Amino acid sequence: MIVGLDIKNKRMRCSHCQSEVIKKYYRLDRYNKVICETCYSKSRRCQVCSLPNKDMYLVDGLKVCMDCYSQKYRCRSCSKDLKKDKLHHIYGLQGFFCSTCIHLLNHCDRCNFPAYSNDKLIEIDREIRLCESCLSTSIVDSEIAKKVLVNVSRILNKKMGLQMVKNLTLELVNKRELMYHSDILLKPNNQSSAENLLGFTKRDGKNFYIYIQTGLSLSTYISAVTHEYARAWQLQYCSKQIGRVLWEGFAGWTATKMLWLLGYHEEIVKIESFGDHFSYGLKKIQVIEKSKGTHGVLEFMTQVK
Ligand SMILES: [Zn+2]
Ligand SMILES: [Zn+2]
Ligand SMILES: [Zn+2]
Ligand SMILES: [Zn+2]
Repeated sequence: MIVGLDIKNKRMRCSHCQSEVIKKYYRLDRYNKVICETCYSKSRRCQVCSLPNKDMYLVDGLKVCMDCYSQKYRCRSCSKDLKKDKLHHIYGLQGFFCSTCIHLLNHCDRCNFPAYSNDKLIEIDREIRLCESCLSTSIVDSEIAKKVLVNVSRILNKKMGLQMVKNLTLELVNKRELMYHSDILLKPNNQSSAENLLGFTKRDGKNFYIYIQTGLSLSTYISAVTHEYARAWQLQYCSKQIGRVLWEGFAGWTATKMLWLLGYHEEIVKIESFGDHFSYGLKKIQVIEKSKGTHGVLEFMTQVK
C-alpha cells in the first residue's frame, strides 16, 4: 500500500533523479513518491502540491509547478471557469478555487478543501469531516490499520531489535471513545493533553489493547500506532520505576525512529515540538542513543526491573 512499508525494503528510487535512495529521503504526494535528500534540498517546491520541480510559474505571488499551473483556470471544488473570477485563490494544498467556494462554510477538517455540496465531505466522526482526497490516505478501516501495525512491529523488530509484543488487540475509535478508554479527563489539568491524544494503550493481565483515533492521515497514524506499540513493549519488558519522563520519552523516540525510516520528516517535527516533559524525555533518550546506539537505548530501558 505504501512504498517501503515492507521489511524487505525493495530498492527505492528517487522519483526526481532516479538514483537509488540509500539513507535519508522524503515521502511525498499521497505517500507514493520518494525524494532523495539531495533533490529535496536542491529543488524548489511547488507551493500548491509541494512536490519538487525545476520550473516554476507564478500565480498570485506563489510559485507553482507546471501541473498545478495548468489547472489554475478551473475551480477544484465546483469546476467553474476561473478566467472571469478575479478573486481566484490558492487554498491549502489543493489548488485553485472560485471566490464562492472559498467562502463556503463546509471545509475539509484536514486540508481545508471547500466543499460546494455536502456530499463532497465524508463524516468520519462527529468532529471530523474529510474531503475524498484526504479520506483516500486516511486510516478508517480496521483491517488496514491492523496490517500497518503488523508491519510496524516487524520493522521495529528487524531494524531496531524490539521484541515482538504478543496478545495485542487494536481498535480504531472516535475521539470520545478514546478519552473514555484513557481516563484522561479524570486527571486534573489534563485538558490540553486530551486535545492532543491520538492513541492509548491498556494492559489487562497478559493482554494489551491499543486504541487509536480513527481518520488520522497515514503518516500520523504510523506515528501514533508506533508510539502505542512502544508503550505496549514497555509495559511488557520494562519497569515503570524508570520514571515518567523517560517512560514517555521512549515511546516518542521509537515513533521518530520509525518515521525517519519511512521518510515522514514532517511528523518527526510534530513530535519534537510537543513540549513539556514529553520532549524533555525524548531528548534524554536521544542523548543515550548518541553515545550507546539504538541497542544501548533498549538495554537502558530494560535494565531497571
Ligand atoms: Zn533525487
Ligand atoms: Zn504543483
Ligand atoms: Zn468553486
Ligand atoms: Zn481534505
